[in-house]
Amino acid sequence: MRNGVESAAPEAHRYRLVSRAARSVRSVVRVGQRVTFGGAALAVCAGPCSVESREQMETTAAAVAKAGANVLRGGAFKPRTSPYAFQGLGEEGLRYLREAADRCGLAVVTEVLDPRDVELVVRYADMLQIGTRNMQNFPLLREVAAAPKPVLLKRGIAATIDEWLMAAEHIVAGGNAQVVLCERGIRGFDPHTRNMLDLAAVPVVQSLTHLPVIVDPSHGTGVRALVAPMTLAAVAAGADGVIVEVHPHPANAYSDGAQSLTPADFAELMEGLALVAAAIGRPLPERAAAAA
Ligand code: PEP
Ligand code: MN
Repeated sequence: MRNGVESAAPEAHRYRLVSRAARSVRSVVRVGQRVTFGGAALAVCAGPCSVESREQMETTAAAVAKAGANVLRGGAFKPRTSPYAFQGLGEEGLRYLREAADRCGLAVVTEVLDPRDVELVVRYADMLQIGTRNMQNFPLLREVAAAPKPVLLKRGIAATIDEWLMAAEHIVAGGNAQVVLCERGIRGFDPHTRNMLDLAAVPVVQSLTHLPVIVDPSHGTGVRALVAPMTLAAVAAGADGVIVEVHPHPANAYSDGAQSLTPADFAELMEGLALVAAAIGRPLPERAAAAA
């Protein structure tokens, strides 16, 4: 490439840094003090779609840590299809998320929507989530490429795998090699699921790139009853981890209640996951030692 003009390079060279050809060993991405993505152990991220209150975060963090998650999720900046839907608590939400995670010994992943908020989110989060709607928001990708924190890059809602890997390439080429991919379903045609969870993408991506890949069965299905089976299938397919929405009272959730597990559902899911993990020889996360 010269002056931004692409030569007739073969397809794979368009994501040369993230390709397996560039690096034959798998990348391990460290998140916070103790979590790794792409190592032997699975990473399990859990928490509400939106951060709603201190109490909600404290209850959820305690429950998911007890059940065996090692990363707390929750959106303080929410990308909502309707402008009238809850947009997130902003910095106040980041504070609730951080405090609850620290109390339970969890790492924090949260979405950043706006390049102007990257610096703020970096102060609270261990991992920066780029949502499906922003996979090709290039100014945002450039900003997180310059950030000192790992990035969770969700697949765009209508993105091909090559487009997704090129988005990852933007971040790595910009200076941040700490990228984890997240399959979260692509727009399908069947109203029984919110999105079409592409589990074949897991082994495909692993054949093309050295980056870790996790699966989001919550947005991938949109249906609570489908989250557990797709979590197990994702791990059986070789995913390096999962990210699951959990809410203490899904019926009252500000967003994504229909796909949120209760803490009890999540604890049951983790028991099933232990069996699948054992079957494929993949350890579950180390128990989060409750801090503070
Ligand atoms: C989320 O994680 O709550 C979210 C908005 O995800 P996605 O970008 O995959 O829709
Ligand atoms: Mn959500």
